[in-house]
Amino acid sequence: MSGVRGWQFFMHPGPTNIPQRVLQAMARPALDFTGSEFVALRDACLERLKRILKTERAAVVAYAASGNGAWEASIANLFSPGERVVVCESGYFSRNWAATAEAFGLQVEILPTPEREAVDVRALGARLARDDGHTIKAVLLVHNETSTGMRHPVAEARAAIDAAGHPALFLVDTISSLASYDFRMDEWKVDLAVGGGQKGLMLPPGLSFTAASDKALAAAQAARNPRRYFDWRNMVKDARQVSFVGTAPMHFFFGLAAALDMLEEEGLENVFARHRRLAQATRACVDAWAAGGGPEVFPRQRAFASDSLTAVLMPQGHDADRVRSIAEARYGVALGRGLTTLQGRVFRIGHMGDLNEPMLLGALAAIELALRDAGVPYGHGGLEAAQAALGARAAR
Ligand SMILES: *Cc1c(COP(=O)(O)O)cnc(C)c1O
Repeated sequence: MSGVRGWQFFMHPGPTNIPQRVLQAMARPALDFTGSEFVALRDACLERLKRILKTERAAVVAYAASGNGAWEASIANLFSPGERVVVCESGYFSRNWAATAEAFGLQVEILPTPEREAVDVRALGARLARDDGHTIKAVLLVHNETSTGMRHPVAEARAAIDAAGHPALFLVDTISSLASYDFRMDEWKVDLAVGGGQKGLMLPPGLSFTAASDKALAAAQAARNPRRYFDWRNMVKDARQVSFVGTAPMHFFFGLAAALDMLEEEGLENVFARHRRLAQATRACVDAWAAGGGPEVFPRQRAFASDSLTAVLMPQGHDADRVRSIAEARYGVALGRGLTTLQGRVFRIGHMGDLNEPMLLGALAAIELALRDAGVPYGHGGLEAAQAALGARAAR
């Protein structure tokens, strides 16, 4: 923590700000995790998650694990060693999901995507159309690539799979899009959705989950990959989670119930609209910086810029980590770093979860100060552009 007085602005794209209401809901003694009080809470929370995933039927299974655990559950339950999957490359998170599949002995084929571009669903369709023997068991896609701040086209990818007449399972990582913008598991015929608690769901890190279609549950019966803690065969009955294998992570459920209350009180559509507004304001500000030869929004196609975070690309010869460290040490604003290939080139502004206009505007103003202090060129008027993008809201 820096020595700056006043509130620290935590602008990471995960974990995100944890609301007091969630923290306080978790500050309570443990319960018997096989008793009726916890079982009722568990069942209610998993049902409410289904409404956010927009699914009627899927089996939601939660794990005491970060998102990486849910990835591992997806690979361990659905496949056998040697099976082939296609991973749509989107950045760091797609590569690590692919690495999980490789660790289980799968044949992983990466569908390449040029940097700063959205996943090419036409190339995906063409690859599947060439797969006469249907040796490809699944297509893996990250909805919101948190390393690049890009939203990838899930509905269009599903349409490409259908157009190729291919039976592959469709796996989608919605960890940093869920409860920030629209995800439609049933409509997009997603067979397995992978979710996590510490992004749009505003929980401390440590809870993740998967949601499996009937087709995915059937595949899990035939799959031979080794698994135990993540084994749905021990956890799921009649498309419902009935066990955690070990002790249930009950405090995450106390927190999750509070987070779901907050999301339901605001209304999911209003939550999405708020994320969109904050994202548009952020992009308007960064565009103004870019107009003066400064940092720019990372995605090239604006339609694919994420509503839950903005990755900001530095001008040549300027170090993103220097801006980040000044922002944190001098102004108390914590930003996400650029991951692996983007280290030093990119910083990331998280604008998902428990966030409002003054928090965002304060952070953007402080980032501008850090750019000035670091000697990075930038166009002026970023804050005014952000305020203009927020638009007038009728007083009530
Ligand atoms: C954060 C994140 C993960 C990994 O989750 P951890 O909780 O860090 O293990 C996976 N995918 C995406 C898209 C993420 O944003």
